[in-house]
Amino acid sequence: MRLPAFLTFALIFTLSACTPATGPYQERIYVFGTLVDVTLAGVTAEQGRQAVAELAKDFQDEHREWHSWQPGPLTDLNAAIARGEPGRLTPHLRRLIEISQRLSAQSEGLFDPAIGGLVRLWGFHSDDPLTGKPPPSAQAIAEWVQARPRMSDLVLDGDVVRSRNPKVMLDFGAIAKGYAVDLAIEKLRAMGIANGIVNAGGGMTVIGQRDGRPWRVGVRHPQGKGVLAAIELRDGESVHTSGNYERYNEHEGIRYGHIIDPRTGYPGREVLSATVLHEDGSVADAAATALVVAGMKDWQRIARRMGLRLVMVVDQAGEVHMPQAMADRVRFAEDSPPIVHVVPPL
Ligand code: AMP
Ligand code: MG
Repeated sequence: MRLPAFLTFALIFTLSACTPATGPYQERIYVFGTLVDVTLAGVTAEQGRQAVAELAKDFQDEHREWHSWQPGPLTDLNAAIARGEPGRLTPHLRRLIEISQRLSAQSEGLFDPAIGGLVRLWGFHSDDPLTGKPPPSAQAIAEWVQARPRMSDLVLDGDVVRSRNPKVMLDFGAIAKGYAVDLAIEKLRAMGIANGIVNAGGGMTVIGQRDGRPWRVGVRHPQGKGVLAAIELRDGESVHTSGNYERYNEHEGIRYGHIIDPRTGYPGREVLSATVLHEDGSVADAAATALVVAGMKDWQRIARRMGLRLVMVVDQAGEVHMPQAMADRVRFAEDSPPIVHVVPPL
């Protein structure tokens, strides 16, 4: 039976007026050493619970599969490479290597997951809090820079990989969240959920909208001042922020961050944080890390080479640098907006 249009309206109005307004379904999962917040709109609590349970299971499997130092498929692969032997790949590891080879080449090697040995040398392959230990010796760092393992040292052959350099040690910390969040979003879509956010600390991807309006998300302030900016994200967009403020070791008053410049072997210092908005979460995540490494002189060139358009970089003085296209997408807090430098389009 078809109802006259005016009656349908009236019916909807009455129904919505009787139904208590319920916000989106929200749940928090602890995985990847961080908190992942899932927000779903237009679902019942039961649908929400089921969906998040599925995502949590995937995240746990992925965490185990590509963890950089807890024993599992990735540490087995790294051990094989160190012995000079071919290593066996899971489908995800193969995909992560393929994507990383491409992004590493585009970023002139500034994003390079082959530098796990260097990350470990700096003490970041540990679950323990970093406790003011001295940095590695200049000689150990120089030896590492000399050996310079790269993603391009890896040769894929079906589900087997060989390395031309036994110093390659894969660490997907700079891309794994973006990749995993995009997988989660794919899964939500496959479950028929069309509106939501999966937010894994430094990065997130959204689908659909919230009550007919774009999702509005916050970008963290790199100097610990809460939220730096708000961004409205469109269906399928991701935003990732990286910075050496996230994880660091402090020794004799100097902070040594976890994002390391493969050219020098030392943590990048000039860029406090880099934010990248992109339709591919893996690209946004890897690129945010690459731009922190690039420094104030090189970030625009690297962004162009990586095909980015929507980027925001915060320098050591807390000032923001971005092209107009990004400025059009972000809103700063009205009471204390930062100094903004608009750079030419990328
Ligand atoms: P993110 O928080 O996405 O910037 O990733 C940082 C993590 O990526 C670090 O904790 C390291 O595990 C790893 N990493 C550090 N420096 C690099 C680099 N230059 N290229 C790729 N991965 C890196
Ligand atoms: Mg990253």
